[in-house]
Amino acid sequence: MTQPGIRRVVIAGGGTAGWMAAAAIARTMGRTVDLTLVESDAIGTVGVGESTIPPLVTYNRLLGINEAEFMRETQATFKLGILFDDWKQRGERYFHSFGITGKDHWSAGFQHFWMHGLSRGHLQPYDDYCLELRAALQGKFAHLPDDRMNYAYQLDSTLYARFLRRMAEQDGTIRIEGRIARVDLDGDSGDIAALLLDSGERIEGDLFLDCTGFRALLIEGALHAGYDDWSHYLPCDSAIAVQTESVRPALPYTRAMAHDAGWQWRIPLQHRTGNGIVYCSRYLDRDAALERLLGNIEGRTLTEPNILRFVTGARRRQWHRNCIAVGLAGGFMEPLESTSIHLIQRAILRLLRLFPSTGISPRDVAEFNDQQHTDMLQIRDFLILHYKATERRDSAFWRQCAAMPIPDTLDQKIELFRETGRVFRKNEELFAENSWVQVMLGQGIVPESYHPIATKLRDDELARLLTGLRDHTNATVDSLPEHAAYVANYCGPA
Ligand code: FAD
Repeated sequence: MTQPGIRRVVIAGGGTAGWMAAAAIARTMGRTVDLTLVESDAIGTVGVGESTIPPLVTYNRLLGINEAEFMRETQATFKLGILFDDWKQRGERYFHSFGITGKDHWSAGFQHFWMHGLSRGHLQPYDDYCLELRAALQGKFAHLPDDRMNYAYQLDSTLYARFLRRMAEQDGTIRIEGRIARVDLDGDSGDIAALLLDSGERIEGDLFLDCTGFRALLIEGALHAGYDDWSHYLPCDSAIAVQTESVRPALPYTRAMAHDAGWQWRIPLQHRTGNGIVYCSRYLDRDAALERLLGNIEGRTLTEPNILRFVTGARRRQWHRNCIAVGLAGGFMEPLESTSIHLIQRAILRLLRLFPSTGISPRDVAEFNDQQHTDMLQIRDFLILHYKATERRDSAFWRQCAAMPIPDTLDQKIELFRETGRVFRKNEELFAENSWVQVMLGQGIVPESYHPIATKLRDDELARLLTGLRDHTNATVDSLPEHAAYVANYCGPA
């Protein structure tokens, strides 16, 4: 059964989520909807969010955004992956890059050929076969033909929201400044009827997007959609962020440095560096966390510490009645793999595909919730992997992580890889085989065997394959310019 058509779309909240939604809906749905966004400058936004993953490139292209202009406006740099320090063991590091490593065969990933190579005396590390990884560590970047270099951005998400706001307003979005004081429900249906502002203004709508951040004013405050708490799997519950001046040319990667009760990020933008510490408050108090953060930054601080608390988990129903949670209102998982802005993008694109122009169908709602939930569970499993597969036992925090029970889905993935070297990507999973292999190897999970197809290669064929791939990677990396110089040249003056 469907209800009357949806014309008035109201977005509550104007952080990255609110303006990403407004820009996309305004650009793609045009005048078929009336789009209003309410935000409160006095409340402000969460003020963090800098590291992203490659689908954002596609999102921006979909909106017709000029990349050089976008990068100039958001002070963005290119990102080729994440360098993980001290996760497997103190003093050890590994890189999770975008792109692919080596060359897959239809029946077996490159890791099988690489492992066979190890047994035949080709001892070069797996990393040597990945273009993005090698380029990142040498601080190099360029756009390559056919998008051969897979990349994302490191950006200032507050500036990104501002950039998108301009677009959305040009495309007809009405912005209303004010604090939402109350959410009115329809007495008969129980749907949201209107938002009441402090000023007394009443904003009615047919469909509401809750982009009010951790407050989740509509989806939880008014509609009580429920929340699944996942902190037993991902025990960090606090973060402190601080921005510093840049002291070196920006590198094309993010750093995630583990400490004894969590980890610390460092994200180089054009005009500054983003830093933050993520920690478990059971093992580290706020003052000690702040001291640790400030003791491990480079350059002068530019901002006061931004102190944040969170409960890792997901809203049980992301779409409930006539309200859809987008962004932090829908849940939060720590930014270890830079997935939050991506989840915003997925929710928006999903909404556009399932847009209820002729009324809200329970089938659409169920499909949306199922897809969004699957995304979140898959990302959750990938994040847990970083904590569970550790050899660290030097603190109570890491001992807890190593001992914790994990979801069966993750256990199957880890054990399959450990036994056979195999990894499979299911249901359009965000993180593909390359990501799982790099992180599992990086965290010290070593396969006990590999696919027999790799042994079909004669020794000279295997040598030619491996040497050829390495030579090609080396030659390409050698030809690339320095990342920081490339960004400066690419963005140029306006
Ligand atoms: P917010 O930015 O909080 O926006 C909420 C909006 O709602 C604001 O405009 C506010 O004014 C408005 N609002 C709230 N209440 C009211 C009211 N009563 N009346 C009117 N308006 C109201 N993501 C990544 O992808 N990469 C990262 O590296 C990354 N790092 C992060 C680090 C930390 C520590 C945290 C906590 C998050 C990080 N994120 C990251 C997530 C990212 O910051 C968010 O996903 C993104 O900024 C979207 O936030 P939001 O728009 O949902 O919420």
